[in-house]
Amino acid sequence: MLGSLRVLTICLLIPSFASAQNMSLSTAVTVKDLETFLKAANERLNDLSVKYNQAQWVQETYITDDTEAVAAAMNENYLQAISDLAAEAKRFDNLQASPELTRQLKLLKLLVAAPAPNDPKERAELARLGAWLSGIYGKGKYCPKTGPFAGQCMGQSEMEKAMASTKDPEVLLDLWVGWRTISAPMRQNYTRFAELANKAAREMGFRDLGALWRSNYDMTPEQFSAELDRLWNQVRPLYLSLHAYVRSQLVKKYGAQMVPPTGPIPAHLLGNIWAQDWTHIYDLLNVPSGSGVDLTPILQQKHIDDLRMVRYGEAFFTSLGFEPLPKTFWERSMFRKPADRDVICHASAWDVDNQEDLRLKMCIRINDEDFRTIHHELGHNFYQRAYRHQPFIFEESANDGFHEAIGDTIALSITPEYLKQIGMISDAPGPDADIGLLMHKALEKVAFLPFGLLIDQWRWGVFSGQIKPDDYNKAWWQLREKYQGVAAPVQRTERDFDPGAKYHVPGNTPYARYFLADILQFQFHRGLCRAIGYQGPLHRCSIYNNKVAGERLKKMLEMGKSQPWPDALYALTGERQMDASAILDYFAPLQKWLDEQNANNGVKPGW
Ligand SMILES: [Zn+2]
Repeated sequence: MLGSLRVLTICLLIPSFASAQNMSLSTAVTVKDLETFLKAANERLNDLSVKYNQAQWVQETYITDDTEAVAAAMNENYLQAISDLAAEAKRFDNLQASPELTRQLKLLKLLVAAPAPNDPKERAELARLGAWLSGIYGKGKYCPKTGPFAGQCMGQSEMEKAMASTKDPEVLLDLWVGWRTISAPMRQNYTRFAELANKAAREMGFRDLGALWRSNYDMTPEQFSAELDRLWNQVRPLYLSLHAYVRSQLVKKYGAQMVPPTGPIPAHLLGNIWAQDWTHIYDLLNVPSGSGVDLTPILQQKHIDDLRMVRYGEAFFTSLGFEPLPKTFWERSMFRKPADRDVICHASAWDVDNQEDLRLKMCIRINDEDFRTIHHELGHNFYQRAYRHQPFIFEESANDGFHEAIGDTIALSITPEYLKQIGMISDAPGPDADIGLLMHKALEKVAFLPFGLLIDQWRWGVFSGQIKPDDYNKAWWQLREKYQGVAAPVQRTERDFDPGAKYHVPGNTPYARYFLADILQFQFHRGLCRAIGYQGPLHRCSIYNNKVAGERLKKMLEMGKSQPWPDALYALTGERQMDASAILDYFAPLQKWLDEQNANNGVKPGW
């Protein structure tokens, strides 16, 4: 789910000629000039982003050729402005100014994920390639000839549903291989795309595009890479325990012929196109029953409708001391799938005017998953509102992992005790039912970690030239095996381009943020639970109705991106370093259970 609307960063920059000329006028500049420049830049970007948000909202809630055209035009205006301003900002490169101004200047240059080269021909080529790559992914469909899905042509979302719904290995294999036929044609254009985007990054003073991406974390690119390695090594033992247990259960289901008991797991058997989320194979895993609370039947019995579900989410935040959502939120949001037109149902939280015009866009279904998703999305909305007094450039989360992490932190507080407090259930089940609950969460959050890490390990290698085009697929599968312990179920060659089968590669969206969010949400959760003096198992802690937690949270949210992220982290947790020990604490009872099961079954973790 997307947080704010700054998804714009996946698009391309095309600087105008005017700004290119400005750059060559290197007259002496003063701090006053910089102040004036940034003030105007913030105002201009804010203005254009509001227009774009409005157009985009209409487009996503009423899809027609016209609304698409209007939204695309507004997006172009906005990107053009960033591009002009980033080029103009070079005038101030050597100026000594306050940390606040210097920070704004730096972040202005990092607003896009693919800067444009100076040469107009190359700029146009890069823009064309970017649009082509995401277009071919968006249109990508596989049409199985046999099996239960024969006759259907499936895009990403149909494919996800299909792979989640079947356990037939032959069908799964066909879908898995079929989905990867859409990405093979991307290879050549992606190679060229990487070349041009790298060139532009170098023109901006970065070593390559990967280094540019890693410069957005208040440390050097090298330090950031080392940070990720450190975090991964912290959490790896938990992943290994989960992987070993899941593999042993898949051996039971599919046999040792198909699933090597000591090797990597074939990637098509985990219930997901990319093997990044394993929740859909939960029922194969022989987890003790009595697994937590399923809200779906309860919501239905109580006749709770979509509006009331959102009210529950809002009540969570007001219980922490946040102001209720503005009246316009209830008037302008979309909670229900309209019967008369096409909309984008993917849940998202909006801040249309960068002030108080918050909205939720979601086709709410009355079930457990959506009840949680509402809490998550409102986390974005309350973050957006909290930082509204910052200059536009700082109206973002502290680093790009924080936005998603906040939504998820709130969702972690949906515990049985919370559900009891809000009258959803009359008795909270005892902790003996928790293995199921924790397993369910681990299949989503723990299984994801190595995947969240390796996407950019691959891209950083591509951008730095360490991974050559002739080895794109080989290097991809080496990383998949090294980190995830999964293997391609059939032989792959350099005629394939398997990284392109994941949206964020052709869409050029940095991915490390999802890994960070996965680590940070548990650290936030633990920090808040400590602040309120909670002592019990971390997965049973809820910050609901606690003003101390609310104050802590607010303090960090209000900072937006105005300070280096360690300061923001400190405000919330009292810690300055990202720390994966919180996710280990959270899953400690599960890990103990997994290790016992593995030992009893003679299963050795690793591959
Ligand atoms: Zn989200």
